[in-house]
Amino acid sequence: MAQTLGATTACSRPVADADWRPHHEHVGQTGVAIRPNLYIAIGISGAIQHLAGVNSSKVIVVVNKDPEAPFFKAATYGVCADLFDVIPQLNEAIKRFKTASN
Ligand SMILES: Cc1cc2nc3c(=O)[nH]c(=O)nc-3n(C[C@H](O)[C@H](O)[C@H](O)COP(=O)(O)OP(=O)(O)OC[C@H]3O[C@@H](n4cnc5c(N)ncnc54)[C@H](O)[C@@H]3O)c2cc1C
Repeated sequence: MAQTLGATTACSRPVADADWRPHHEHVGQTGVAIRPNLYIAIGISGAIQHLAGVNSSKVIVVVNKDPEAPFFKAATYGVCADLFDVIPQLNEAIKRFKTASN
């Protein structure tokens, strides 16, 4: 979906600690601080240490299956659902939108 949007990817610290993504992508208190126009947090809980790096983002969209996830309190828009359902559909919708706009 990042490719579809032309977006940059980022991650939480545990994801970088597990070597799923490189450490320069880890945002938060001990990582980088970012302030994009749009931050889409997919399957990220919204711990205070993570929020410290993203809370200056202009628009925050949160996708999380746990309605109690702290990130929803910081979200501009929230989707409470399984990311494996939502993200493929959203990706296809963005592709359709881009095709229709060209
Ligand atoms: C001193 C210190 C400094 C720290 N610095 C940082 C920092 O800079 N950056 C940082 O990110 N963290 C930092 N942390 C760690 C932080 O406290 C959290 O542990 C971490 O941010 C949690 O990462 P997470 O949200 O990816 O993982 P988790 O806490 O495991 O959360 C995963 C989330 O994904 C959701 N989820 C799981 N599966 C699905 C699914 N299929 N569909 C939808 N949602 C799903 C769950 O509901 C959950 O909310 C620091 C901690 C300490 C003690």
